[in-house]
Amino acid sequence: MNKSEMNFDAIIIGGGLIGLLQALSLAQFDVRCAIIEQSDILDMQSDNFDGRTSAITSASMNILNLLSLDRSILGQGANIKKIIVRDGNNGPPLTFDDGEILATVFENQKLRKALLDAVIKHDNIASYFAAHIIDQNIDDYGVNIILDDSTNLRASLLIGADGRSSKVRQSAKITLSQWQYDHIALVGAVAHDKPHHNIAHELFFNEGPLALLPMTSVSNTQYRSSLIWSIPQSQSQAYQKLSPKIFSHELNKKTNGLLGEANLIAPLITYPLGFHSVVQTTAKRVALIGDSAHSVHPIAGQGLNLGFRDVAALTETLVDGVRLGLECGDAQLLARYERWRSVDTLAVSIATDRINHLFALKGKTAKSMRRIGMTMIDKSDNIKTLLSREARGVVGGTPKMLSATNL
Ligand SMILES: Cc1cc2nc3c(=O)[nH]c(=O)nc-3n(C[C@H](O)[C@H](O)[C@H](O)COP(=O)(O)OP(=O)(O)OC[C@H]3O[C@@H](n4cnc5c(N)ncnc54)[C@H](O)[C@@H]3O)c2cc1C
Repeated sequence: MNKSEMNFDAIIIGGGLIGLLQALSLAQFDVRCAIIEQSDILDMQSDNFDGRTSAITSASMNILNLLSLDRSILGQGANIKKIIVRDGNNGPPLTFDDGEILATVFENQKLRKALLDAVIKHDNIASYFAAHIIDQNIDDYGVNIILDDSTNLRASLLIGADGRSSKVRQSAKITLSQWQYDHIALVGAVAHDKPHHNIAHELFFNEGPLALLPMTSVSNTQYRSSLIWSIPQSQSQAYQKLSPKIFSHELNKKTNGLLGEANLIAPLITYPLGFHSVVQTTAKRVALIGDSAHSVHPIAGQGLNLGFRDVAALTETLVDGVRLGLECGDAQLLARYERWRSVDTLAVSIATDRINHLFALKGKTAKSMRRIGMTMIDKSDNIKTLLSREARGVVGGTPKMLSATNL
């Protein structure tokens, strides 16, 4: 899009995975948008920009398919066909396997590069990288933003996709419930000698959960998995000081050699873990999506997927409204988005938080109650089907894009 064209239907602040996806989804249906990102595009394309992986549920994959992004990431993800949850490393397994693919694990950088390529080529999107906002004004007539190079952008709606410390959220005075976990996540990749068979393992220890997610293999004899290990903050420095060899030894002890001998193959990255959820997802001419609205514990792999659900619901709401002749910032449309997303976001946020608390309880009684509960769930096909559907992201008032239906 010609960048001298300064009037848009929506301005998106934040070009993370969710902001980029939102821009493409709206642009696909001829809703014209500007996306403003503070990072330089060359940095964002570098392999070191983000060392995380994400498990994309099969419902979220439907959005990527509808946007024709599936072709650019084809073969770059490993499917999760089964999830095995254990209390510790030797508790009875609770297995989720309903014969369908539950999710696909991608390196975040592969997703980011595919999204960036598509965004910069799209005629309905004007992108501003390494851009800094020096003034922002919202009134009855619209949104007005001035960038540090004096570019002046106007739109009907402002979409906040600017992550955990969202300035859009702060300037709209949207209240937040939040707390920090006394834990950090150690994130890395391991190579191991036993195949993962496309199984995701989630082991819950009192000190914090540990997840191993299948990744694409390097060769027929070298298999890879992504590690997310939540440990108490007090132990974080000690773990980070360990050499890769000793860290791998500790990991193998902790997982009881689940995947054979595992060795760390990428530098460990640490993330502070916190929970937040907004009281409202909208304000006058403002809608929040992704981590600007909510951030959950990464163990269940739902954070990015919640953001995909925001994008699908907001896109459907705005596209329906525009077809009826409404503008994107119309209060009725924002009220519809608010109703649609608030219950789902709160339910997933609370469920993820409660699971962590449940498994953190110490003592023999808590342990045997957990094991009885897990055995009962494992024997109940109905509950397991419901939980598998949740893992695939096909629950609630599903937006059309998530069920592979065009708008
Ligand atoms: C260890 C870990 C593992 C995870 N694993 C999973 C998983 O397996 N599955 C899953 O679903 N989720 C997972 N998540 C959660 C997921 O990573 C996040 O939910 C997701 O990355 C949020 O994306 P976002 O685009 O909303 O926010 P962000 O990625 O934070 O992006 C925000 C963007 O906005 C930009 N920005 C901020 N302020 C401004 C400004 N003023 N002007 C311009 N730009 C601005 C930033 O530079 C950034 O690019 C994990 C999280 C962690 C911590």
